[in-house]
Amino acid sequence: MTSPTERIVIVGAGQAGGRAAEALRGAGFPGEILLFGEERHEPYERPRLSKSVLLGEEPASAAALHPRAWYADKGIALRMRSRVEAIAPKSRSVITADGERVEYSKLLLCTGSRVRPLSGAPEGLAGVHYLRTFEDSERLAAGLEPGRRLVVIGGGFIGLEVASSARRRGLAVTVVERQGALLDRALPAEIAARVASLHAAHGAALRLGVPVARIHGNGAVKAVELADGAELPADLVVIGVGIIPNTELAETAGAVSADGLVVDEYCRTTLEDVYAAGDVTNHYNPILERRVRLESWQNAQNQAIAAARNIAGERRAYAEVPWFWSDQLGTNIQMVGVPDPAMQIVWRGERLAFGLLQDRVRLAVGFDMGGEIRAARRLIEARITVPAKRLADTAVRLKDLLTEATCSASTP
Ligand SMILES: Cc1cc2nc3c(=O)[nH]c(=O)nc-3n(C[C@H](O)[C@H](O)[C@H](O)COP(=O)(O)OP(=O)(O)OC[C@H]3O[C@@H](n4cnc5c(N)ncnc54)[C@H](O)[C@@H]3O)c2cc1C
Repeated sequence: MTSPTERIVIVGAGQAGGRAAEALRGAGFPGEILLFGEERHEPYERPRLSKSVLLGEEPASAAALHPRAWYADKGIALRMRSRVEAIAPKSRSVITADGERVEYSKLLLCTGSRVRPLSGAPEGLAGVHYLRTFEDSERLAAGLEPGRRLVVIGGGFIGLEVASSARRRGLAVTVVERQGALLDRALPAEIAARVASLHAAHGAALRLGVPVARIHGNGAVKAVELADGAELPADLVVIGVGIIPNTELAETAGAVSADGLVVDEYCRTTLEDVYAAGDVTNHYNPILERRVRLESWQNAQNQAIAAARNIAGERRAYAEVPWFWSDQLGTNIQMVGVPDPAMQIVWRGERLAFGLLQDRVRLAVGFDMGGEIRAARRLIEARITVPAKRLADTAVRLKDLLTEATCSASTP
């Protein structure tokens, strides 16, 4: 039960922090809500930063969750440009960078993640970018002029969305990926190959299976040298080699962390009355029957809402099939589930692929197939066995597969 005298402190005013504050009020929490964020902007969502903002279609400010006045209206105290430096669990308080101590009844950590630096990359070289924040996106967008040469280091989703936006703005683009396939961590190679074809068809050069040796420049970037000796002239370089969850604040206070801050299905960390949500967490997913650390809009949104409701006194487990989307070169790519190296890949037509483990659908990836992906999500949720042949048969509707399996399961 919550009371008006309680104070919830949220650390991290990104998507998860902002949505959690909103959900706390939505759940009727009557007490004080304090939201600390080290950035200067009110909470915003990052997906536009690599898409419409880089395309020059809208400013980064369009990504805000709500206008600033909305927080005051809801009685949410926004403390921007305010970094929390420490948690003191015994005195149930947090300490900010300016030494202020703020007590909490419950604490929610939504500290997200930061870009992983490329080792050996020179610092302060003009034209070398990372992409995580509002400012990163605006700076990069300003440099995307037609005819310039861009080298993207890292063939993950962020790198490929940058490559896509830059090609669409008329830049010459090369994507360098040290693994032999794009999207190595996110997709089975057979499906990722389709993404590679999409980029190649739009004129991007792909250098797969070769690491970067050095970035050259004097004041401004000039070229990227690869380990095989090739030198790629560059006016711009974008490094997208992954992210690191911001777990240190909680770890120093004694919370358990293992590839993300460990939380249970109610979003509780191992510290009393300390919860966490979003990119920073590693949680057990009962549908997948394994722990996962997700880097996605869906998880930032829905785990934050689940955390807020649990803080507000409901007992609600967070259990969803992971879903992710990416927009590249006019194609909407959506995936549900998670990949596994042992998966059998089954194509259903040319634009929808499934990943099966022991005849159970565990992953689906669609290219402009939003409706089918919704049906695929239900197949994963249902945890039923589906014959690969029927899955591949486009004459059989996905929702019929679900009904057939459900009926046979309930037939005595
Ligand atoms: C360019 C880009 C494009 C993306 N596109 C997609 C997409 O198309 N689809 C998709 O599903 N996902 C996408 N994502 C991923 C998605 O945006 C993230 O998973 C989501 O932002 C995670 O939200 P979060 O609130 O957990 O963390 P964050 O967004 O990282 O927010 C955490 C906030 O906490 C602040 N903070 C950290 N420590 C402290 C502290 N000690 N004190 C105060 N403040 C602190 C940080 O500065 C930050 O503002 C994209 C991400 C990026 C960067």
